[in-house]
Amino acid sequence: MKSSLLAALTIFLSVSSLHAGSIQSGGGEDFEDRLNPWFLQNTEEVRYCIKIDQKNFGTSLAHVESQIQSALEYWKAEFQNSISPVGSSIRVGTQRFLQVDCGEAHDLAFQFGVLSAAQKASLEKPSRYIGVTVRESYDVSSLKAKGYIYLSPAFGDLKYEDERLIPNAWALHGGYLLASVLAHELGHVFGLPHNGGRFQLMGQQFPEQLLNQNYARWVDPSRPIPATLSLARGDSRAGQGQCLPDPTMKTVIRIFGLPAGSKCVRLEYHHQSPLKVSELRVFSSTSKTGPETLVATAAMRTVDATSSIAGVTAWLTPAQRVVKLPYSNGQRLIGPIFPEVTKQGFMICRMAECRREIFVRFESGSAFIGGVVDGQLIYDFFASSEEMPRRSIRSN
Ligand SMILES: [Zn+2]
Repeated sequence: MKSSLLAALTIFLSVSSLHAGSIQSGGGEDFEDRLNPWFLQNTEEVRYCIKIDQKNFGTSLAHVESQIQSALEYWKAEFQNSISPVGSSIRVGTQRFLQVDCGEAHDLAFQFGVLSAAQKASLEKPSRYIGVTVRESYDVSSLKAKGYIYLSPAFGDLKYEDERLIPNAWALHGGYLLASVLAHELGHVFGLPHNGGRFQLMGQQFPEQLLNQNYARWVDPSRPIPATLSLARGDSRAGQGQCLPDPTMKTVIRIFGLPAGSKCVRLEYHHQSPLKVSELRVFSSTSKTGPETLVATAAMRTVDATSSIAGVTAWLTPAQRVVKLPYSNGQRLIGPIFPEVTKQGFMICRMAECRREIFVRFESGSAFIGGVVDGQLIYDFFASSEEMPRRSIRSN
């Protein structure tokens, strides 16, 4: 299956790069441990502090504190539901995060519109970033880094500079955009590189896409931040289904055996664990918020998880004292991966006679469902819509 065939979203706006959400290594040096997680399992506590220019940033200290919590909780859950290669000896996201005063010793500073003169000079033109994660030092023995996450303010001299972006993003949607950009930047702290398209959390252009004015009407703050390391859960809340245009709905009614007159469909995935059995449940309704009927179910087992992409990797230096032999110097170890898992099973329709083999391809929080219908292999049941800029079933 080609990813072009299975594009998670069909809203492709033309936006060029603003170098948003970049990751930089300290001092401009390109060490091989440059992308290591800032903290491995030997670090039990991370002390972080917050600096904010409350006049210009666009939201309050209390507000950024709660969005930092949301972003940290997001990653904790993602790492708990992630897949690591068998025998992997690095673990991330296991720490307690403790907020301290910036005057005290700390490992990570969240800087909201605040930069020292040296930081400002090293970023050259900070206003070209929406957010940036900078590792300032790295201890090659304990494999522990120090650094900062900087988000540009919405106002003032340092405000993010691009007329395509929403002018006052950080206060919008109860902080959803702020938490999402923080989650992207924290992903780099946990050792994740850029991966995926602009609608995926760790996609290089995710922050600028999220804040793009043309995309604003598609942002749905009631939905969770897109999954990165866990498998998609579909539209897992009642009343959050997709109401599809008639031509697409016709196909969907046929495939899932929905009652005639169905306008909306909602899929839920329940995972025993990433590589074990998942259950698909399909619901239909005649309106977005109308009562839903369970119309089909399928138990699916993993048939392929071979093409997974390395997510977190750690380069071991000769001086490291964290991971025991046989792992040795100059070896890159793989931690949690960006999942690519295919599951397969029989779908049983409840409202109509149907029993067919289906497969679901899970890729970093996206899910593509397909199967054989009337002798024809269909890769993505929802892809037949040409008129609707669809969200697909890409949700957490
Ligand atoms: Zn980034």
